[in-house]
Amino acid sequence: MGPPEHWIPAAIGIGSNLDDPVAQVRRALTALAALPRTRLMLASDLYRNPPMGPADQPDYVNAVAVILTQWPAHSLLDRLQALEQAQGRVRAGGDRWGPRRIDLDILTYGHRQIDTPGLVIPHPGISARNFVLFPLLEICPHWSIPGRGEVRRLAGQIDAAGLEKIPG
Ligand code: ADP
Ligand code: MG
Repeated sequence: MGPPEHWIPAAIGIGSNLDDPVAQVRRALTALAALPRTRLMLASDLYRNPPMGPADQPDYVNAVAVILTQWPAHSLLDRLQALEQAQGRVRAGGDRWGPRRIDLDILTYGHRQIDTPGLVIPHPGISARNFVLFPLLEICPHWSIPGRGEVRRLAGQIDAAGLEKIPG
């Protein structure tokens, strides 16, 4: 018998604004569901929203997924980055906030608070980003984000303007 299974709930932010973003986000959800030692528990609807940062790029499509995973946080990040690569994300220098085919961020990981150069959890953008909080509100309004508070309260503090739920 192997070591005991230890399942950690984590929220994953998914975003794309290149090469049919709706299809890219759906593909990422399928890939998340297929990760070893991981279960996809919940997926929000998809939301369209204007780009953050440089405005001369296509609209984004965002969603949030809740998974259970047995990977330690850093290994989970490695796995997500491998999925980004597999889906053809090109990490050119200065890619930050630039157009991308797929972006997978760890929003929360259990009750953990992590602050290392390569990994910050909860994700620093959570409380300011409507494209994270409104999808989260849809699937887990009462989830408490370590150090920040309940999703419902955080969502109540920001504007949903510009955010559009994609039908179907
Ligand atoms: P963005 O900030 O737009 O998501 P990237 O996806 O290019 O930019 O990520 C840049 C770096 O952010 C990654 O190489 C990763 O090491 C780091 N990072 C820190 N915290 C996290 C997190 N919670 N989830 C994902 N990446 C993170
Ligand atoms: Mg990222």
